[in-house]
Amino acid sequence: MVELPLNETISNEDVDSLLGIASEKNSTIISISASLIKKWWEYRDNKYCGIAFRDIDVTRKVPSVASERMKLGQWFEYKCTGAVNRDGSIPEMPMTSTGKPTAEAKRMETQAENFKLLAKTEGLEVIDTGRVLQIDYPDYRVKGILDIFGQMYGEPCIVDIKSSGLIGNQWEEFGWDEITFNSRHKLTIQVVFYKFLALHVLGIRDIPFYFLIHSSTNDIDYEFWEVKLYDFEYAMQETGKLIEQVLMSVKDDMANGFIPKPSMKRCKKCDLLQNCIYSRITPEKKVVYIDGIYSK
Ligand code: SF4
Repeated sequence: MVELPLNETISNEDVDSLLGIASEKNSTIISISASLIKKWWEYRDNKYCGIAFRDIDVTRKVPSVASERMKLGQWFEYKCTGAVNRDGSIPEMPMTSTGKPTAEAKRMETQAENFKLLAKTEGLEVIDTGRVLQIDYPDYRVKGILDIFGQMYGEPCIVDIKSSGLIGNQWEEFGWDEITFNSRHKLTIQVVFYKFLALHVLGIRDIPFYFLIHSSTNDIDYEFWEVKLYDFEYAMQETGKLIEQVLMSVKDDMANGFIPKPSMKRCKKCDLLQNCIYSRITPEKKVVYIDGIYSK
């Protein structure tokens, strides 16, 4: 049975980032997306390997196969909006080995109905799905792919569809909780990044941005958030600086080499494991100390 990890949120952009788009494979143009920035943060914080970052995220030399989690996410979005895969194929409903829909697929089918009800209630008009917002430079681009570009409350808007097992969770990095959301950079980046693209590509200042977050663990829970910025100008300046910082760092590593960061847990799940000379498939040695208290 396919299990949807509780600590992850599925979004179309992550799927695009991981699978790449055929024409971009082996690209020498650096494509800065919100997903790439999240991976760069992980690499910088020693939570992701530089070799994997280079081959999977930056050059996209290594093709990735869609995981069951990604296929479920693609299918869910198809049920919500009719969005097809980037290659034009229709996402298939995940099935068990006996040919029946998985429990997760059935749950997300109900959640897709929840999405449609909310869209109708709030008057969301979907103008298009999968719209690419892109700023081109000679050797890099800044790019985002919208789940939904639409119209709501009389204004153009961006809607991002999520499925998550962490609705209301205050503690996890990917927890969807209103109070702690402000400090969840891996979630907030998508808002400021898309607002940045909407400003520079569409000429829309501070476009309304909505998250529709659907539970992946039950049929009932789902949330509707509008995310606003306290200071739009400041957020756009900081986003521009962040893009430049990531670009400079990636260019520097392309010239001087990305740093391998092998670890057993990472390597065993890595698509590059088979031919990687840096891989580690046994645990790293940990040194632990006794503090001198020997009696109870
Ligand atoms: S196998 Fe390990 S060292 Fe090699 S690229 Fe993957 S994570 Fe990095």
